[in-house]
Amino acid sequence: MAKKSWTKKELKEFRKVILEKRVGAQEAIERSKELTDNIVETGDVTNAVYSSHMADAGSDQQDREKAYYWLGRERKFLQYLNRALDMIDDGTFGICKTCSGLIGKERLMEVPHTSTCYECKSKDH
Ligand SMILES: [Zn+2]
Repeated sequence: MAKKSWTKKELKEFRKVILEKRVGAQEAIERSKELTDNIVETGDVTNAVYSSHMADAGSDQQDREKAYYWLGRERKFLQYLNRALDMIDDGTFGICKTCSGLIGKERLMEVPHTSTCYECKSKDH
């Protein structure tokens, strides 16, 4: 008989992993913020030395785009982690909404907020 719910111990483990991931995401957001702030603040300086540092100015632009990209990505990830924590609280975490089976642990570690198991997700495509 297939297991239809997580034990309290398992949920506690998931919560711990998600909280750890969340700390990591928050740190990454802070770092990206610092990076984007620095780029904005030094914008004038970059212009002042533009003529002698043409190549650097180009890579600054790339760094900024990269920093904003990462910032957006980490923010989204943080939202997903918060959603996963909500799901643990309301008892829907790690349970497939299509087949009501438990979602594989490996998949949950990758995408904690998922509400579809690998098999059902595959059928969708
Ligand atoms: Zn399923």
